[in-house]
Amino acid sequence: MVEGDLREYILDLLASRSVNLEEIVDLVYFLQKDMQPGLTKEECRVSIMRVLSKREVQYALLVGIQLDILAEKGLVEEPLLSILREDSPLFGIDEVLALAITNVYGSIGLTNFGYLDKQKIGVLARLQHEEQELKGQVHTFLDDLVAAVAAAAASRLAHRHGESR
Ligand code: MG
Repeated sequence: MVEGDLREYILDLLASRSVNLEEIVDLVYFLQKDMQPGLTKEECRVSIMRVLSKREVQYALLVGIQLDILAEKGLVEEPLLSILREDSPLFGIDEVLALAITNVYGSIGLTNFGYLDKQKIGVLARLQHEEQELKGQVHTFLDDLVAAVAAAAASRLAHRHGESR
């Protein structure tokens, strides 16, 4: 599978887990709008697509989302199965995997990720709500990975904005 195809596969995979590109666009716009007056959602969308073209980003998404799916189907062995289903804040490996994404764009990526992780806005709030309210849904990795993609895309815009001034 070539990289471009993998990006399309991941967009489909995200959609199958109920996350649409436009929801990630909203997160990027939220993070970056005050820093870049005149920023458009199209610029945010393009930045996300560039982030999703990176091999390390694609692999982190593939691994994390697959673990969520397997846990949902009960196909992970104990004790990991219960840990994934609980989505305990002490687990922490979901955040560690997400750092593989934010690391691509340096320290602003990390700051943005930490902020989204605390704020839980938009799609992040919805994923958390679904996990808590709809029994059997596992989004242990998904919420962190989506936050990381948005944080990385916002950081990418910040770096480019800095360069152009
Ligand atoms: Mg999580």
